[in-house]
Amino acid sequence: MASERIPGRPRALSGIQPTAGSFHLGNYLGAVRQYVALQETHDAFYMVVDLHAITVPQDPAELRANTRLAVAQLLAAGLDPERCTLFIQSHVPEHTQLGWLMNCITGFGEASRMTQFKDKSAKQGADRATVGLFTYPILQVADILLYQADAVPVGEDQRQHIELTRDLAERFNGRFGPTFTLPQAYIVREVAKIHDLQDPTAKMSKSAASAKGLVNLLDEPSVSAKKFRSAVTDTETVVRFDEKDKPGVSNLLTIHSALTGTGIAELEEQYAGKGYGALKTDVAEIFVAWVTPFRERTQEYLGDPETLDAVMAKGAEKARAVAAETLAAAYDRIGFVPAKH
Ligand code: ATP
Ligand code: MG
Repeated sequence: MASERIPGRPRALSGIQPTAGSFHLGNYLGAVRQYVALQETHDAFYMVVDLHAITVPQDPAELRANTRLAVAQLLAAGLDPERCTLFIQSHVPEHTQLGWLMNCITGFGEASRMTQFKDKSAKQGADRATVGLFTYPILQVADILLYQADAVPVGEDQRQHIELTRDLAERFNGRFGPTFTLPQAYIVREVAKIHDLQDPTAKMSKSAASAKGLVNLLDEPSVSAKKFRSAVTDTETVVRFDEKDKPGVSNLLTIHSALTGTGIAELEEQYAGKGYGALKTDVAEIFVAWVTPFRERTQEYLGDPETLDAVMAKGAEKARAVAAETLAAAYDRIGFVPAKH
């Protein structure tokens, strides 16, 4: 099946890891919501990146379950397999194949500068970090370049990896001739970094040391509501957006604004003289109202394995058509002898 670009539509590509059962609010606001929006304007490819998940230890049964759960959550969030290509990374072998080529044009020092590796290896203890964790940004480069993506919707933590992607695409194109599109990060500034509710200077993360500040979409809503009500703020009482001096309050305002569409300035006015308690209770309620149908939809998709399997099979087929074409071009440019069929 030859792939064809949809005229007038730029390509978008992104991925999410099945490293935990549930997505968290940072994943949704920072990334997944943009995936849904870009279906309307882009020829969009979204994948569950199981190859990336195994860069840290995973239990096989849990990984399998979490991968299916990730697909169910993406559908529940609004991805429509008729309007985008939704697939599992390991179903498309071209990712690891192009990943190898990218490994071979990346400098060791260049890879060593990736801050995500530094953060993640520090969390586990440097001795336990795998070579896979070290090279995962390079696999991510291949993920993006295979689809000739123009836009990559991600959170702020991924900006450096998109820069690496551009550098390697330019290097390959320069050495071997034009092959890859140079992608741009698609980062929505306001929601690019949702913070942990207990440690409001840190990013909300699936792999946070403590779950107390982590808002999981599939948790019992009453559990999340409680987390919002006990969110860390500051010793003032004024509801004001100030990321530097009031990171906790600013984070709550960001979440409120993102879920209701109300501007920050308007919210500051709304909460003038009301104090933090009212803001926390309202954000808790707004979240619960949004997440309740999301959880129901996720359970519906999970309860229909045939549909889930069909979505994954169709997605893999569509993705492979594009990926195979790009890989063949890259193999040719680099000087590999074509295999005879
Ligand atoms: P892990 O801690 O295992 O890396 P994660 O929470 O970072 O998990 P990923 O699957 O790595 O989740 O990331 C999926 C997408 O969510 C990426 O585009 C990432 O930039 C975005 N993202 C992750 N955390 C946040 C956050 N706190 N705020 C905004 N976007 C986020
Ligand atoms: Mg991450």
